[in-house]
Amino acid sequence: MAKLRFEALKKLNERSKVHVESSSPNISKFFGEYVFGMEQMRATLAPAVFKKVSRAIKNHEKIDDTTADAVASAAKSWAISKGATHFTHWFQPMTGGTAEKHDSFFDALSGIEKFKGSELVQQEPDASSFPSGGIRSTFEARGYTAWDPTSPMFLYGKTLSIPTIFVSYTGETLDTKSPLLKALKAVDLAATQVCQLFDKDIQHVVASLGAEQEYFAVDKALYNARPDLVMAGRTVFGHAPARGQQMEDHYFGTIPGRVYDFMRDFEIESWKLGIPVRTRHNEVAPSQFEVAPLFEEVNVANDHNQLMMDVMSRVGEKHDLKILFHEKPFSGLNGSGKHNNWSLITDTGVNLYAPSSSARDNLLFLTFFVTTVKAVHEHADLLRASIATAGNDFRLGANEAPPAIMSVFIGSQMSAVLDELESKGNVKIEKGDNMYMKLGIDQIPEIILDATDRNRTSPFAFTGNKFEFRAVGGSDNCGTPMSALNLIVAEQLTHFYAEVTKQIGNGEEKRIAIVNVLRQYIKESKVIRFEGDGYSDEWVKEAEKRGLSNIKTMPRAIEAYVSKKSLSLFEKHDVMSHKEVEARNEIKLESYIKRVQIEARVIGDLAMNHIIPTAIAYQNKLITNANGLKGLGLDNGAVLQTIKDISGHIETIKTGTREMVEERKRINKITDTHKRAFAYCDDIKEKYFDKIRDAVDKLELLVDDEDWPLVKYRELLFLR
Ligand code: ADP
Ligand code: MG
Repeated sequence: MAKLRFEALKKLNERSKVHVESSSPNISKFFGEYVFGMEQMRATLAPAVFKKVSRAIKNHEKIDDTTADAVASAAKSWAISKGATHFTHWFQPMTGGTAEKHDSFFDALSGIEKFKGSELVQQEPDASSFPSGGIRSTFEARGYTAWDPTSPMFLYGKTLSIPTIFVSYTGETLDTKSPLLKALKAVDLAATQVCQLFDKDIQHVVASLGAEQEYFAVDKALYNARPDLVMAGRTVFGHAPARGQQMEDHYFGTIPGRVYDFMRDFEIESWKLGIPVRTRHNEVAPSQFEVAPLFEEVNVANDHNQLMMDVMSRVGEKHDLKILFHEKPFSGLNGSGKHNNWSLITDTGVNLYAPSSSARDNLLFLTFFVTTVKAVHEHADLLRASIATAGNDFRLGANEAPPAIMSVFIGSQMSAVLDELESKGNVKIEKGDNMYMKLGIDQIPEIILDATDRNRTSPFAFTGNKFEFRAVGGSDNCGTPMSALNLIVAEQLTHFYAEVTKQIGNGEEKRIAIVNVLRQYIKESKVIRFEGDGYSDEWVKEAEKRGLSNIKTMPRAIEAYVSKKSLSLFEKHDVMSHKEVEARNEIKLESYIKRVQIEARVIGDLAMNHIIPTAIAYQNKLITNANGLKGLGLDNGAVLQTIKDISGHIETIKTGTREMVEERKRINKITDTHKRAFAYCDDIKEKYFDKIRDAVDKLELLVDDEDWPLVKYRELLFLR
């Protein structure tokens, strides 16, 4: 096995530069070249047909058959002119990632290329092997995909890809996109209603997302020599390198050459696909990087993020790099998140989280701001559940990652504004335009411009004109957290609207009524606000005192989805039925169990078949050495001690692995998925993973470097 490691290291030194070139130095010349979006439709459809399509898209209406036929025909001609041979419905099943099944345009019967509107609108992939959480076993076995016209089609390779939702034959959603679209509709309805208290011209509110994607890039040969990375996406063993991230020299440093070429290459591919990639930089850990796009409407932004991850993996191959999106590939170093920058923007162009200089607009801003904080307070557990994944368990609360405790950071200046608003509760407010002055609300614009107020330790932070949900994991589909966030904000806005209209009905002046409800929310949601260091132990204690949850593991965290409160919330806003929510949890638990199972097997295999034989072989060399020393009458005490230490670690690994196997046998017999997942979490992962790892990592320090079978952290992370 050590042979594989050294061969990989040799390969690394022989890598040659991959040439990267774009067709033009001007991105604008090729941006969106492979997208069949609104512009292309306008250019290729008859004006009357285009009008129908765009209206249907804007108002979430059904597109009739003739129109669909026209769109299909135009899309086909466009795609074929660019070299396409196939089309596919592109969807996001609950396995994570995306799925596709390609069909050829060519129809052998007629001998021509065909693409009908009905094929664009709906397909029936064989759904039986996608997870359904039991929905399908009790109902129909079939599922279908349906065109989502709000996200543009794109040409990927030689295939016209059509973003779609994926639902069971009986209509239950089986993907991440469907509930997201519904949650976005819910927040549109609720936010528009509230906006109309201020401005009747506002007809729609659109949620926007800018997802900052963190990732690691490692050499492909080294990656392939680490079975744990290949099988589990993370290293289950590996001693921290002598130099980790303590020098703090990686962040924003010069991007290493090979990675820089890779970045340029995937950026060019992304631009062609209309993905507005914008920012690139080194992240905190060695070999960790970040890419951020310009924000877009949530559904499109999420499709783009999913597509971009795929582009990155493919382009990485070309550069002999493996791109790791896992939340925690390396213990002891920073993990990778996907910060979801989020805001709500009206169809009149107002960002509802951007303070303005007019008093009226500032009350609108405060309404959305305070209501969002209140929503997080009210539904913190659901928000926590929405970011729960097996991988994120290793990241949350570990090295420089937000904790599993949900809190909101708003900055000292917004804190001052809210405190002011709250404390003036008993002050008589004069009616008329001056009343805002008395609340200090007019100070906001000036305040916000000073953006020094930053806190990287908060899971949910206000950053000047948007909120940043930082707890989302690097490999996750933003659709899940974005569904939850938009849903809880929709709920709180609905509640807000009802309260305000009730007070108006009782004779209160509108603006006074609004301020009254905001004050109440500020008071009620105070405990969720935290401005200090989220990574500190004090915060854990303080949060407990405040009664905030700190749910550390995924199986426990996702229980919040099936609480009475959450179930009725999903149902009330028509996002998911009880059955759908429950099925989803079932799928998540099943997948969690499999993940832990795989990791346990990888740990067992590596430990027993690679680490222990290596340690014993080395120990035998030491024994020969000790005997030799003794024969010469020399002191062999130090060698004997090492031999003993090695024995100790071998013993720990052997017993740990053996017990773990026995435990797994016991747990696999538990029929209840829920209980089985808890057992895998507590009695396998928590009990054995670190224990075995600790002994292996100690052996790594004792055994001769020449013999060690696994590529070491310093090699994975520092060699270019
Ligand atoms: P940083 O958070 O590092 O200061 P930026 O402020 O530039 O960086 O934004 C990070 C991400 O937030 C980018 O993807 C950006 O497009 C996105 N973003 C900026 N404004 C908004 C907004 N109003 N809504 C959603 N995302 C936004
Ligand atoms: Mg940011």
